[in-house]
Amino acid sequence: MGRFDSISTDPPIDVFHLTELFENDGNPSKVNLGVGVFQDENGKTPTLPVVRSVEQSMAQDLTLDKNYLKSVGLDSFCQACLKLVLGEQSSSIIENRACSIQGLSGTGCLTIGLEFLYRNGYKIGYISSPTWSNHLSIMQAIGFDVKRYRYWNKEKLNLDIDGLLQDLQDAPENSVILLHACAHNPTGCDPTREQWQQISDVIKQRKLFPFFDFAYQGFSTGDLDQDAWPIRYFADHQKHELLVAQSFSKNFSLYNERVGHLTGVFSSRDIIPKFRSQLTTIIRRIYSNPPAHGAHIVATILCNPTLYSEWKNNVRTMFERIQSMRQLFYTKLKQLGTPGNWDHIITQHGMIAFTGLNPRQCQTLLQQHHIYLMSDGRINICAITQKNIDQISKSFYEVITT
Ligand code: PMP
Repeated sequence: MGRFDSISTDPPIDVFHLTELFENDGNPSKVNLGVGVFQDENGKTPTLPVVRSVEQSMAQDLTLDKNYLKSVGLDSFCQACLKLVLGEQSSSIIENRACSIQGLSGTGCLTIGLEFLYRNGYKIGYISSPTWSNHLSIMQAIGFDVKRYRYWNKEKLNLDIDGLLQDLQDAPENSVILLHACAHNPTGCDPTREQWQQISDVIKQRKLFPFFDFAYQGFSTGDLDQDAWPIRYFADHQKHELLVAQSFSKNFSLYNERVGHLTGVFSSRDIIPKFRSQLTTIIRRIYSNPPAHGAHIVATILCNPTLYSEWKNNVRTMFERIQSMRQLFYTKLKQLGTPGNWDHIITQHGMIAFTGLNPRQCQTLLQQHHIYLMSDGRINICAITQKNIDQISKSFYEVITT
């Protein structure tokens, strides 16, 4: 009898399970709309040209070594990321009230940021309904009492701003409010600037704590500064204390390098050394220090004006592909006369579209049409190509009309 004979198996992670089903499907025309990574017209997740060129020069650079970084990461990376998120002119940076930590991509930065809050007395966390599933898992594992705020209006297929504001209004003081800064996953629905102002007002009035998840800078409007607007409004205009978990998986296409950045903005510069010391302890315990390769790539690009403008063009190219596939999908659904209003396909932002299909329709798409998508109807817009668009739209038409 072994020690572990009686342990249980965890339920599969939905999106990994979907990929497994897809891989086991022998049908040559199968399509996977499930996994949330950028894909080009050939279905490939490309390494950005600007990243390739920096990697080529890094390979020749004999000054680069493999020594440990500090627990809080590479300084040049941190300084550059802080400007990218808060803006060159940020009063939080000028007044030295902003602190910068390198972390293991978005997931890692959310984790260490939430660990910091939990150990300092923040025990209640609010996530949007729906949200990226890891928000729930991370908060629960740390020990938060997790609650949900309304976000998606199922009938109108848009943001339930009244429900959202009401739920924040009812939240206990010091609750942590996890917000998607842009390109909300999975609904693709972002608050307008006026709505962000309302959200900021309630958060301030109710003494809640905003934590921004910033995984898609550049993917919502195609403009890095515009996508950062809510964060800058909260930090510099409204003087909130806040955290931001920034991921470079998507906008640098550095998925497996695990490059991320945690920003803390505080009311006084005196908090910074305390925050850094606590984060050092948290990181030391979990993974000791972060990897350097991806951080070095990002720092090199952000600190060099020519490379920076090349990167902006690369982001723009990805954004334009997303927009054109949204438009194409919308046009095809309309041409087929698919019942329903499909405006949300072109008004939503980012890679993920929330189609509005119900779980039964999603199941039929999978079983009868070999089109794989999550049961809540979210799809990765970048998985659409000129080759598969007709098959996808006709299949949608069929499951909706039969
Ligand atoms: N937040 C959201 C909303 C996401 O969609 C993702 C990626 N799917 C992440 C964070 C983090 O991803 P990563 O850990 O690769 O940066």
